[in-house]
Amino acid sequence: MERGLLIVLSGFSGSGKGTVVKKIMESHADEYALSISATTRSPRDGEQHGREYFFITPERFQEMIDDNAFIEYAQYVKASYGTPRAFVEENLNSGKNVILEIEIQGAMNIKKQYPDAILMFMMPPTAEELERRLRGRGTEDEVTIQARLARAAEESEGVENYDYIVINDTVEDCVQRFCDIVETKKSEAARNMGRIHDIREQLKVYKKGE
Ligand code: 5GP
Repeated sequence: MERGLLIVLSGFSGSGKGTVVKKIMESHADEYALSISATTRSPRDGEQHGREYFFITPERFQEMIDDNAFIEYAQYVKASYGTPRAFVEENLNSGKNVILEIEIQGAMNIKKQYPDAILMFMMPPTAEELERRLRGRGTEDEVTIQARLARAAEESEGVENYDYIVINDTVEDCVQRFCDIVETKKSEAARNMGRIHDIREQLKVYKKGE
């Protein structure tokens, strides 16, 4: 079984990542697994424990750090977020591509530990569009919106360290671009040594009569 790809998808808060990921999971459920992070922030309206996040206490979060149960974790605005290790490893080993929807510090951390991971950064077409989408969500107060916009300005500094930029104009186009990038990566010769050996073996019979 060929190991799956680890895919990091980052984007400014309000970039529409969530919607795009939902579409990918709906249309390609057998190829992708979406990692669910643990966080110390409170659930927003409509969020469920075990679906969007595992909502845990700071004490429990610290315990998980101590147990080496995260492959990465980071602080974002006022909360902690971490990627549970077991789910990622199990799914990669069973051949699924695992998507991590995480922020930039976590992304850089993943690149160090998994040099083979693909890092994608999703952006709205303009900053104005980002602000419009953040406000449109209607789930955060003004202080939080301002904090997230300020954070986006900071994060825009590190975007060049990602492997790919994916512009989120329409959801469909964005999903298509995402899948194209994954397919391209999967087609790399170095990732397909099994297949290359197989075809060499199969072709040997033709050499005999030379
Ligand atoms: P939100 O509070 O809007 O759900 O998430 C805030 C930020 O934290 C987003 O950029 C999200 O991608 C990121 N995030 C979510 N889970 C994780 C995680 O496990 N690790 C890291 N490093 N960032 C995360």
